[in-house]
Amino acid sequence: MAGPSWNYVLKFIITGDAGVGKSSLLVRLTDQRFLANPDPTLGVEFGSKLITIPEEDNKVVKLQCWDTAGTESFRSITRSYYRGAAGCLLVYDVTSRPSFEHARTWLADVRTHADPHLTCILVGNKSDLSLERRQVSTEEGERWAQEEGLLFVEASAKSGDNVEAAFEKAARDILIKIRRGV
Ligand code: GDP
Repeated sequence: MAGPSWNYVLKFIITGDAGVGKSSLLVRLTDQRFLANPDPTLGVEFGSKLITIPEEDNKVVKLQCWDTAGTESFRSITRSYYRGAAGCLLVYDVTSRPSFEHARTWLADVRTHADPHLTCILVGNKSDLSLERRQVSTEEGERWAQEEGLLFVEASAKSGDNVEAAFEKAARDILIKIRRGV
């Protein structure tokens, strides 16, 4: 029988305020589509996707991604939700300053509950929206990510821009840690 077609299985979690586009990022990653009016009660909770990391010897990673799917207000679920996670997408909406400010609280939550070696990437979503609607500049997002030791990208679940790249960037960092025995 043939062996599995991947080298690693990595659990990812997606956190951030309601409405920033967590479900949409997950749908875009796993289904290559975008729903303009997703039904919040039908939030995608889990998605799986194979990605290849060219810089890491073309290793194939099976991403198992969990979305908080509308449970943002139930902070008590966090401990089990974070268990075993290797990567985290910390998402805010570039057109919502409050969602960027709350990212601090989400990060504190991640740091309290998750493995200390977890790789976290800050994702400024909805980069497709016009500059006039922006409330958080790229530089500001980048600066805060750097201060906190997070990876950073801006992405759009709507256009698909940088969505796979965000997961890939985080997965690559995790593979480097694994290779170094961290
Ligand atoms: P969640 O609550 O964080 O899971 O957010 P959703 O995925 O449900 O998205 C909230 C709203 O933002 C929905 O109306 C989406 O269609 C919209 N949305 C999500 N991602 C994007 C994006 O990249 N660009 C734009 N313009 N809208 C988005």
